[in-house]
Amino acid sequence: LPGKTFEINASPMPGGGAVAVLHDVTRIEQVERTQRDFVANVSHELRTPLTSITGYVETLLDHEESLTPVAREFLSTILKNATRMNRLTEDLLVMARIESTEQKLQPSPIPADSLVREAIEAMSGLVQDSEAVLEIGEVTSRQVFADHDAVMQVLSNLIENGIKYGRTRSNEFSRVVVSANEISEPYEMVEFRVRDFGQGIAFEHLGRIFERFYRVDKARSRESGGTGLGLAIARHMVEAQGGTIRAESELHRGSTFIFSLPVAQYPVTN
Ligand code: ADP
Repeated sequence: LPGKTFEINASPMPGGGAVAVLHDVTRIEQVERTQRDFVANVSHELRTPLTSITGYVETLLDHEESLTPVAREFLSTILKNATRMNRLTEDLLVMARIESTEQKLQPSPIPADSLVREAIEAMSGLVQDSEAVLEIGEVTSRQVFADHDAVMQVLSNLIENGIKYGRTRSNEFSRVVVSANEISEPYEMVEFRVRDFGQGIAFEHLGRIFERFYRVDKARSRESGGTGLGLAIARHMVEAQGGTIRAESELHRGSTFIFSLPVAQYPVTN
């Protein structure tokens, strides 16, 4: 039927034949699209005033000598919160964009090791600011069939989390290690791992951290500039490329985020 969307559930029948059940999901799709567009529009509209607020506050802070200590402190707080709102709107826009069917991923064969190296390179600024140590572990040069920008986004979200939540109990910085290995069961995939040795995640939270806006420690996460959307975005991007994502963690010992991507069946040689 033109303009209609159906979901099909088919099951084989004993003795041959099959039953197929069609669900009309047209309405659900329309509602979801309206919601997505709304979120995208609101985030977009918030950008301009936010940029203006940030700009003016930064300019005021540049003239520190003319400010009283109280004014300086309040302006810094305004700047911190405006920056947070900026991140939130950016993340919401990314989320709305990737959830819409209009967002097309453009997969191509890319060596896993070059993706890891590029992501580590891209995070070097953040690493310097945080005194974190970012290491590259074992990495395969096998090619994955994936969208370059989407993988970069996933890797940088996970590395950023490793840095943010990677402090040990004595508040020392440990390491974040990124690696990539081939697996052959159940399918030929490359498994990327981002491991930290920091605070870890308690078992009861582990199943929920990939949900939108879910944060283990809301106050702390807010303090560190988190929006609670990073892992939801990562999951979406991995699954849209035929992979899976999961986390293993032990409280106060650290966490490992593992995501897989399909191996390129027709690798590029040059
Ligand atoms: P946020 O912007 O809050 O970091 P994420 O979606 O990236 O949002 O992560 C969701 C929550 O999962 C975080 O608030 C944090 O509680 C937990 N989390 C994510 N990564 C780690 C990690 N490497 N170590 C410990 N906790 C983590």
